[in-house]
Amino acid sequence: MARLVVISNRVAVPKARGAAGAQGGLAGALNAALKKHGGIWFGWSGRESQAFTGDINIQRHDGVTTATVDLPHQDVEEYYNGYANSTLWPLFHYRLDLTEYERETGKGYERVNERLAESVAPLIERDDLVWVHDYHLLPLGARLRAKGVENRLGFFLHTPWPPTRLFVSLPYHERLVRTMLEYDLIGFQTNEWLESFCHYCKKELGADTDEATGRIEYKGKVTYARAYPIGIDYDHLMAQADSGEARQAGQRLLASTRRRTAMIGVDRLDYSKGLPERLDGIGRFFDRSPERVRDLVFIQIAPPSREDVESYQRIRATLEQKTGQINGAHSEVDLVPIRYVNKGHSLAELCGFYRAAKIGLVTPLRDGMNLVAKEYVAAQDPEDPGVLILSRFAGAAQQLDCDGQGAVLVNPHSPDDLAHAIQTALDMPLAERKARWQAMIGTVRDDNVQRWTESFTTDLAELDTDTASG
Ligand code: UDP
Repeated sequence: MARLVVISNRVAVPKARGAAGAQGGLAGALNAALKKHGGIWFGWSGRESQAFTGDINIQRHDGVTTATVDLPHQDVEEYYNGYANSTLWPLFHYRLDLTEYERETGKGYERVNERLAESVAPLIERDDLVWVHDYHLLPLGARLRAKGVENRLGFFLHTPWPPTRLFVSLPYHERLVRTMLEYDLIGFQTNEWLESFCHYCKKELGADTDEATGRIEYKGKVTYARAYPIGIDYDHLMAQADSGEARQAGQRLLASTRRRTAMIGVDRLDYSKGLPERLDGIGRFFDRSPERVRDLVFIQIAPPSREDVESYQRIRATLEQKTGQINGAHSEVDLVPIRYVNKGHSLAELCGFYRAAKIGLVTPLRDGMNLVAKEYVAAQDPEDPGVLILSRFAGAAQQLDCDGQGAVLVNPHSPDDLAHAIQTALDMPLAERKARWQAMIGTVRDDNVQRWTESFTTDLAELDTDTASG
């Protein structure tokens, strides 16, 4: 079996998350794949240095080797806070209004990709499979090729890929996508993002694309683009849901709601998650049915993220203001309709909250997948499951709608739609809740992160990139 070299912006060192094997989600799955294949996980350490030295910190924990480099402050500002999180992230989430185009940050992004390629290239052995992750590292594969790396190179985009007419607003968009076509396999979360990418390659680059197989031929080079919807680490999550920590967290929440139905939202504080719009929908619900403040309490868990980026500071202020307004208008002396919690919780605690909350509200304006939606479904009590209200613009909607019988789909931009869905969920009979949960649990359990890792790496190893075969 070929070794695996995983390259991502940040590296999750097993030790950093506690006991070996206690890690879940993507980090856990990649660590498990690395353990099985052998190999290295390479990326930025998350630390800043005075200058770029290229020194690689290699560590081995629990059968996995990690290799990290530090980056100077200017690199972090231009590559990470700048181009990745102020240009590509908003653009890829269809937010042209928040997308910043700065020449300098673009240069910083190129420079860091070059630095990372230069650092990792000597670590790659002849038959290794190289798997690069996410929007921070779109040009990394091309940089590796320029250094003579001839290995199989795969890339997975965890975010959406925007429609061509939005993507062309990016200066040098052609150059960026041409560099991506140096990968042998490009994975997307859903068919929708995959189709947008193929459309771009065909229309803007004149590439030869075959939608049925995902084969893209451009200037004598073949790349495959396919959809690989990411899943959760189901077994790990179920173990967490079964823990004392989860039970305690659930009981704490239930004890505090005093017979009101708890509705929960769990999101990084990010404008793509549709948090102000969600509050508008909740406000609309209480405006229409003020008496139901005795039936429903909304708990929003929103740990801060990317606090150095201005648009993230603004969203925080907006949310505090909206929460205050709704609570001011609808609180009674003995109860408050919205609890807004600005800190992170462990997966075990979240599982306890998910299970205690009879409505899960997941309403991003745009999301590559959204794992919280899947975690919410997995954590439910099969005998008394909650209702998932899900944005039709989350990648997860393509799996959890289940022909209209799974999640309650909403348009997150519409306060009326949200208010109506909340009412539907609140009044939904047990039989319908069970039927909807039954429709969703199969894909949540089976299309898990282990299957995702396996199918991507198998395709990467086996696909036929011979130009003559097409
Ligand atoms: N999460 C967490 N603690 C928190 C909030 C979130 O561990 O307090 C986790 C959550 O369980 C999920 C992930 O963060 O696994 C969020 O993934 P998702 O795909 O929903 O959104 P992203 O943050 O990647 O955009």
